[in-house]
Amino acid sequence: MKSSIIADKEKIDIIERDIPQSDGHKVVIKVAYAGVCGSDLHYWHYGDSWAKGWIMGHEFTGYVEDPGDREDLKKGDRVICMPSKACLDCEFCHAGLTNCCEAPLTDAIGIGTPGGFAEYVMVRSHLPIKLEEHVPFEDATVVEPAAVGLAAANKSQVGPKDSVLVVGGGIIGLMSAMWAKKAGAKQITMAEAGAKRMAFAKKCDFIDKVIDAKAEDCLDQLLAANGGEKYHMIFECVGIQATLNGYLDVLKSGGKLMVLGVPNEMIPFNFNPVVVKNMSVIPSHAWTFEEFKASLAALTAGEVDLRQFITDIRPFEDIQAVFEDLASGDTKNVKVLLKISG
Ligand SMILES: [Zn+2]
Ligand SMILES: [Zn+2]
Repeated sequence: MKSSIIADKEKIDIIERDIPQSDGHKVVIKVAYAGVCGSDLHYWHYGDSWAKGWIMGHEFTGYVEDPGDREDLKKGDRVICMPSKACLDCEFCHAGLTNCCEAPLTDAIGIGTPGGFAEYVMVRSHLPIKLEEHVPFEDATVVEPAAVGLAAANKSQVGPKDSVLVVGGGIIGLMSAMWAKKAGAKQITMAEAGAKRMAFAKKCDFIDKVIDAKAEDCLDQLLAANGGEKYHMIFECVGIQATLNGYLDVLKSGGKLMVLGVPNEMIPFNFNPVVVKNMSVIPSHAWTFEEFKASLAALTAGEVDLRQFITDIRPFEDIQAVFEDLASGDTKNVKVLLKISG
């Protein structure tokens, strides 16, 4: 089968590998579509060191090739895979907090174990979920990043009384905005610095106002967008010093700073306003099984439009070019899918 592999720094190749064979328990999936995630770009960047040899891809859908020990699945069934490393046997997993499980990253699909940027992938048998017939593969492939936004919205307890500032207009910022609006938030403002991302966000009907984060009077504009008031909560979806610190002046006393962006290094953070104004800093990472299933259920019920986030679908062979475009810093793309097979 054809499989991608990280060959070197910012270099991904397609090679020939054996099709994985089930041990009678695990499920083998013939991948139809796989989404490229920001975290994949990060691994690709480190392709000459710790990520060398990885087969990435944790957002994927496909056909069951071998159902393993899943009696409810048969060859040819259409499925989505929950890309989770959760061990199912620790205090967090028992409590349903699978995203807090401390199972090692070596157990994570598309990181330590081969992922969906390949024609076939083998996963633990509790992870695939059957797709309803009317749900297209393409839309379902975006359920994973959607679940990330849903988990953050849940944790923030956002509701109709809340005004929300989303910092960062990538897929996670957009998803957070979508779910916050769905939860009834009275105002959704987005701060974004990239012209193409701003243009995309402006087309989203769940975002009330998009403000240029590069503008000198950005904070004034953010207040004006919210009727002159500070915000009840911020969803920080970038994860760098400037964005983590830069908006505390427009967060209300007692407000919530939801942190979704993952800093890649130690960064200074100004805790003074957080402490004296009794703000909460609340991280949100990944999703629980329940949240993943809720994200899929909302798609299945037609309650959310995930198709709108797919800006390109490219053949598997284009994988290197897709990564180069997404890493260019000037891409028009939000979510790119690779059509792997079928
Ligand atoms: Zn991802
Ligand atoms: Zn666990």
